[in-house]
Amino acid sequence: MSRTIDYLDRLISFATVSRDSNLDLIDYVRAELEPLGFTCRLAPSEDGRKANLYASTGPEDVAGIVLSGHSDVVPVEGQNWSSDPFVMRKDGGKLYGRGSVDMKGFIAACMSLAHELDGSRLTAPIHFAFSYDEEVGCLGVRRLIDMLEGFATRPRFCIVGEPTSMQVAVAHKGKTGAKVSCTGLEAHSSLAPNGINAIHLAIDLINEIRGLQTQVAETGARDGDYDVPYSTLHVGKIAGGDALNIVPNLATFEFEIRNIANEDPTALMDRIREAAQRIEKEAQKVFAGAALEFEPGISYPALNTPPDAEVVTFVKSLTGGNSTTKISFGTEGGLFDQRLGIPSVVCGPGSIAVAHKPDEYIEETQLAACEVMLGKLHERLMQA
Ligand SMILES: [Zn+2]
Repeated sequence: MSRTIDYLDRLISFATVSRDSNLDLIDYVRAELEPLGFTCRLAPSEDGRKANLYASTGPEDVAGIVLSGHSDVVPVEGQNWSSDPFVMRKDGGKLYGRGSVDMKGFIAACMSLAHELDGSRLTAPIHFAFSYDEEVGCLGVRRLIDMLEGFATRPRFCIVGEPTSMQVAVAHKGKTGAKVSCTGLEAHSSLAPNGINAIHLAIDLINEIRGLQTQVAETGARDGDYDVPYSTLHVGKIAGGDALNIVPNLATFEFEIRNIANEDPTALMDRIREAAQRIEKEAQKVFAGAALEFEPGISYPALNTPPDAEVVTFVKSLTGGNSTTKISFGTEGGLFDQRLGIPSVVCGPGSIAVAHKPDEYIEETQLAACEVMLGKLHERLMQA
């Protein structure tokens, strides 16, 4: 147990906020794993400031299990922490620190497991996939997935160790984000009808998005396992205008679709784009330069592993649990599943409810439960 906590202490000390480099942490992890017999491969970011680490032990030509965790954490600015977020604090069975639960606790348990593993005795390999830039839209892992696409043997199952309180989560919604820039024509506000108000263009499209939400809620695909049992659409950011006496010529807003697996987000996006074209055409009757332009934002696919899939039975046999759950937050699991065809589940220590908040923590008992699961995985991979 204490080895996992020691690793957690060390991992928290690397302030791997997504905007900053994660290379110090990756170098450290690699330097720990290589002497233990792991083969380490890096999938760096385009600018080389960050990297994914793919560390493997066991036979190379057999499909094994990939344990997936992201190395980056969300910022601490504006949060009221009781102590330094990048120094682990232990208090009453809880381990505090940024990333403790999301998700360096899981990585620490993997690192501790690495000391128990003897690659030559494994019948199937264990891979650690430690990514960057997960918190900004599952961006970093895509380069790792590009690398894995070229491998002759791909992992058989993926366990994403995001915090589920060690429950086996089989599904989450997908996300498609976009930014819309609305261009109108400026005018003195006393002559407002002579201009094209960019804010009004934005509002017109936002109303269409809200109308679509109503339709989706009433007649769209449903999945009663979610708190909100249908796909959601929402505008989260808007900007435009400079002064009350000027008809604004620019307004921008950002929206997202969070789709359940059996609702196609592309079809919803197409309907929004069609509405934008109608609004644009109407405005162009007054001003030819009027435009509503889309820029893709953060997107990742939904995860929807059937509850009777082999990976689910396998991971349930490791945790001893006999039920499955669905989660509200996104993970890299959808990408492993969709891009590589690796059946994936989410199962990791701690609660998502304390993630991204001040005084984020993980319970020692949750880390211990994760160690038990990984120990069982180890046993299973030593059997034929
Ligand atoms: Zn996370």
